[in-house]
Amino acid sequence: MANRTDAQRMNQLREALHHHNYRYYTLDNPEISDTEYDSLMQELTQLEAENPELITTDSPTLRVGHAPASSFETVTHQAPLLSLANAFDKAELEAFMARVTRWAERPVDFVCELKIDGLAVSLSYEAGVFVRGATRGDGQAGEDITQNLRTVGSIPLRLTEALDINVRGEVFMPRADFLKFNELRKEQEEQLFANPRNAAAGSLRQLDPRITASRKLDIFVYGVGSLTGYPIHTHLAGLEILKTLGFKTNAQIKHCEDVEDIWQFIMEWTDKRPHLPYDIDGIVIKVNDLALQEKLGATAKSPRWAIAYKFPAEQVVTRVVDIQVQVGRTGAITPLAYLEPVLVAGSTVSRATLHNEDIVRAKDIRIGDYVVVQKAGDVIPEIIRPIVERRTGQEVEFKMPQLCPACSGETARIAGEAATRCVNTLCSAQQFEGIVHFAARNAMDIDGMGPAVVEQLIQAQFVNTIADLYALTFDQLISLTRFGKKSADNLLRAIADSKHRPLSRVIFALGIRLVGTEVSRDLANTFATMERLRQASFEELTAIDAVGDKIAQSVIAFFAQTQNQQLVKKLAEAGVNMGALTNTTQTTDQVFAGLTFVITGKFERLSRNTVSDRLRQLGAHVASTVSGKTDYLLAGEKAGSKRSKASELGITVLSEDQFYKFLAKRGVDFDQ
Ligand code: NAD
Repeated sequence: MANRTDAQRMNQLREALHHHNYRYYTLDNPEISDTEYDSLMQELTQLEAENPELITTDSPTLRVGHAPASSFETVTHQAPLLSLANAFDKAELEAFMARVTRWAERPVDFVCELKIDGLAVSLSYEAGVFVRGATRGDGQAGEDITQNLRTVGSIPLRLTEALDINVRGEVFMPRADFLKFNELRKEQEEQLFANPRNAAAGSLRQLDPRITASRKLDIFVYGVGSLTGYPIHTHLAGLEILKTLGFKTNAQIKHCEDVEDIWQFIMEWTDKRPHLPYDIDGIVIKVNDLALQEKLGATAKSPRWAIAYKFPAEQVVTRVVDIQVQVGRTGAITPLAYLEPVLVAGSTVSRATLHNEDIVRAKDIRIGDYVVVQKAGDVIPEIIRPIVERRTGQEVEFKMPQLCPACSGETARIAGEAATRCVNTLCSAQQFEGIVHFAARNAMDIDGMGPAVVEQLIQAQFVNTIADLYALTFDQLISLTRFGKKSADNLLRAIADSKHRPLSRVIFALGIRLVGTEVSRDLANTFATMERLRQASFEELTAIDAVGDKIAQSVIAFFAQTQNQQLVKKLAEAGVNMGALTNTTQTTDQVFAGLTFVITGKFERLSRNTVSDRLRQLGAHVASTVSGKTDYLLAGEKAGSKRSKASELGITVLSEDQFYKFLAKRGVDFDQ
């Protein structure tokens, strides 16, 4: 008989798991680590085994994922897309192998694969053409994300054979791209993704495929869902066929006969895992014989012919030496823990962000504490908790400074926000970050104006605000250490060149809170001039899809400040493009409206960013991956796979020279 406490605890666990499933699968924004989630699930599974009469039909132990979100069309899967049962040690693996072997008439062989930590998708092809792609959803029905999947370069739009086939794969974001992506989001004060898996899921479930296209996503296809007219008998043969059809499969597989073989593969990848360019969270072990797979079948949640060995999260203990604060471009003051250096998942960690004051309080992390550190998604170091038992009483509680550590100005916390901010807009730290942001590649792209140079310019008091950059003189630059005649000339030329950047970049470069590159582009397209943007009302701003209340308020607040009005005026006086038709060399006709370009390789005359901005000004859509929708591929030096894919799809490829001729023919003057 179940006792009351078990029943209560099971209820609590079910509620908690439903909540975390929603955060993870629908919002792509989990609150707890996978290890914590797995231990809640294990606890519930254990309690259900002990109290079978208390199992409810909606128990998370019986369900896959989460119901599809209503913002997408729902697709019913031809064959269900299930989850996988877990094994956490060798004994659990052996138990799985014994269960499977009981159903077999001859010795069973297995295939071990890397368990890619991304998002499961189903891809359907008719007569070899990609027709539908969906998320896993609740296993029976998922979200129709065909348009978004079309933007993933490694998903073939046409197969090498005209087959009807459904395949399953995992879409992921490579680690390096994830780091860059989060870095950019941080700059733009957009919420960071906890790990590459959530970034991939969030990117794939965007309502606007253009946003998905701008994110670097990749796929490994790992299984056949259904295939007509092609007899296959083993999983390995299936993988081979997938490869010949043009799918990207993962090469790291092993054909195994016994548990020792399997265990060796697991140990090998436990060691090698940190060096992979993408995240894996385990090893999947599958029965190779498809007839046996069929015989074994599946539970409501997972197939009986496969199991996932899950790697333990690597957690280590170290000490918090200090907690200091950093001031960002918009004045946000972020506490940062300095740690005794320690090796976690393949790299040394000596600092970890604590995000904001509330998080420091909630986790109760003090200076001097021993703490458990883990890498979220094995990438970003995260302090999980202090080891309270090891406290000596000497630990010091962190206090958010009342005054800004950079300028001694006042700090404040706006109601409803987690961040404490320095409210002095003349704060030196904010000015420094603001100028670095202004000059960055994705903003005004001032070549040679990196953080070290900005630091020198501020120290020499040549520059206080971004507008001062345009008043810099040759004599000033040459007086600085490390500057020669040539580098001074080059920097002045780069500064002068930046005056012609498109309005969208100028808007982005101003560093208006919450206004990232994509929103800047929308603002520039809608208002066409800085002056009209300055006067835009809340209603006009929120009429733009990507602009919500917070962004609109931020834009209005920015232009309401006298200092900012003066700043924009000074930039305009210096000749920076404010969107008026002052730039006679550029035609503003939408001559390329309706055409999609992809740009790849290195260009000699103009940077890729400049080329894409100008194309956009002329009405073109610039995508990041070659697909059936691409009209032209501009291929500079060292163009790689995109070029071959374009040729495969019969898309016109233009070299840099051909591109300029192509423009000239259409009467477009594109040059500086
Ligand atoms: P799972 O991630 O444990 O395993 C199933 C999935 O593995 C498949 O759907 C497929 O997408 C993927 N996969 C990757 N490589 C594969 C390969 N080579 N062959 C076959 N499949 C492969 O199960 P799940 O149901 O997707 O998710 C459950 C897990 O997600 C939990 O164990 C937990 O780690 C995590 N989760 C975390 C939270 C949280 O709040 N942190 C919430 C929900 C789920």
